[in-house]
Amino acid sequence: MNPQATLLENVPMSRQTAWRAGGVARFGYAPSSEEDLSLFLARHSFSDLPVVFVGLGSNLLVRDGGLAALVVFTHRGLSKLSILGHGVDALFYASSGVALPKLARFSANMGYEGAEFMAGIPGSVGGALAMNAGCYGSEVWDCVQRVRTITANGEIKERPVSDYLVGYREVSPKHEGKEFFIGAWFGFVAGDGQKSRARISELLKRRVREQPLSKPNSGSVFRNPDGDFAARLIESNGLKGRSNGPAVVSDKHANFIINNGDATAKNIEDLIAEVQSEVECKSGIRLKREVHIVGDHL
Ligand SMILES: Cc1cc2nc3c(=O)[nH]c(=O)nc-3n(C[C@H](O)[C@H](O)[C@H](O)COP(=O)(O)OP(=O)(O)OC[C@H]3O[C@@H](n4cnc5c(N)ncnc54)[C@H](O)[C@@H]3O)c2cc1C
Repeated sequence: MNPQATLLENVPMSRQTAWRAGGVARFGYAPSSEEDLSLFLARHSFSDLPVVFVGLGSNLLVRDGGLAALVVFTHRGLSKLSILGHGVDALFYASSGVALPKLARFSANMGYEGAEFMAGIPGSVGGALAMNAGCYGSEVWDCVQRVRTITANGEIKERPVSDYLVGYREVSPKHEGKEFFIGAWFGFVAGDGQKSRARISELLKRRVREQPLSKPNSGSVFRNPDGDFAARLIESNGLKGRSNGPAVVSDKHANFIINNGDATAKNIEDLIAEVQSEVECKSGIRLKREVHIVGDHL
């Protein structure tokens, strides 16, 4: 059953983001379904405020001064997940609030292979479409067949992959006008579900070994530069363990910044800038941020 739709004011984004830091969003809407969201956006005017979509907040920092926006929280209500057709022609439809690990397990349980890499990425389908999330040599858009989008006025559209320029952790539409992802059709390979489940558990163990998962973090802070790794550059410049208050460059994985207590968004953002500038100064390489930072300074 779908949850009730809710409209909230002054939503603390520290509870909605993986870093557990940051200010409040002016308004938050958690739709109960894609159709509900469409009606809500068509009927309500927040014309002076931008619309921002948030999935599981695993790649997002909201500054301490907050976000003057209507934030659409997709992860509770935009939860449709189904398989259409069967055999080699089957397509999987996932609404944008579905967690990637859920999609990976669903695909494996249906006897398909190819979604395993998604199992350890703690984001939503919508966030992954916006970022072209990926790991271990695969990216989400490799599997996308078509997407469903919505405008800030609630108009729903379907678009082919060819409507987007897709790159490494980067997706830009070729069309004019802002649209958000509300779902996508994925194609996976009909195969061996048991093999897929075994691969998922192998990849999850690898993450536990390599990543500081016991403390709030946002995954990789920087993208890897061509032919190198951001973590290697950060570590080789002696920045592991560097801190700014409770924000700390992880000892376990140098491209992760953990919140070791009650870090503010400013603690984290300043530490990101410090790492970026020291790596550039010592190695001549300007690391590009992977995490998205939005909102106002205090
Ligand atoms: C422990 C850990 C490990 C991680 N490992 C990986 C990894 O291996 N590979 C990887 O790529 N990432 C990784 N990440 C980062 C993150 O999980 C991914 O980028 C994920 O795709 C973000 O999804 P989200 O739902 O959390 O997005 P959010 O953080 O909620 O949003 C990210 C951005 O996408 C936008 N957005 C969200 N939903 C939509 C939508 N429906 N339509 C349009 N825009 C939208 C937001 O406005 C924001 O700009 C990791 C993060 C953590 C914490």
